Amino acid sequence: MSIADNLLRYKNELDADQVTLVAVSKFHSAEEVMEAYNAGQRVFGENIVQELVEKQEQLPKDIEWHLIGHLQTNKVKYIAPFISLIESVDSIKLLQEIDKQAAKNKRIIDCLLQVYIADEETKFGLGFDEVIELLRSEEYAALKNIRITGLMGIATNTEVEKQINDEFEELKVFFDGVKLSFFRKDDAFSICSMGMSADYKLAVEAGSTMVRIGSAIFGKRKIKHFKAQ
Ligand SMILES: *Cc1c(COP(=O)(O)O)cnc(C)c1O
Repeated sequence: MSIADNLLRYKNELDADQVTLVAVSKFHSAEEVMEAYNAGQRVFGENIVQELVEKQEQLPKDIEWHLIGHLQTNKVKYIAPFISLIESVDSIKLLQEIDKQAAKNKRIIDCLLQVYIADEETKFGLGFDEVIELLRSEEYAALKNIRITGLMGIATNTEVEKQINDEFEELKVFFDGVKLSFFRKDDAFSICSMGMSADYKLAVEAGSTMVRIGSAIFGKRKIKHFKAQ
């Protein structure tokens, strides 16, 4: 199956009004991104800043780029001019830096708070209590150039469907609670980003509004073209 065929399969399967498809193109070439672009895809996700910046420079300017990987504060400035959504905000310090760089670029940058839902020690993200603490803080209230439009989570990498399902449901329930408590009158807070190639079906059943699919569209990531951060 070609990249275009794979994409069309997801476009047919997912209800575009309910679920946004982010095509995760990390470690795949600009040519492969163009193949997806020519098949109609406009939203792409990358997890390394350097790779994202290089692709953004080469590729059509109507692509909406999402950063989905851990972001270091000293790298925010490179993506601030163009990034559509930073899905992986995991500290108030990072949010403050994004706000500062957004102001420099005279724009507002949309962000998701990454919530830690997996039973693994390696994943980044805020705990449920830390999300609440952040949203209640004076530091957050002072930020004028960022907008929090939802939450993102990564489930445990396991074959056990019940565990994945429980983690997604937990995040969805938390999302609904955060929406009610902090964003009731804010229509922009609407994104519950969960689900990847292996588990997007479970995620959509649990109420995901954004799935991030990489290998099932582009094929296996063979080599790392870029050094990890
Ligand atoms: C790589 C990555 C994905 C896509 O993973 P696939 O299994 O290839 O679909 C989704 N989300 C995040 C945060 C990623 O780093």
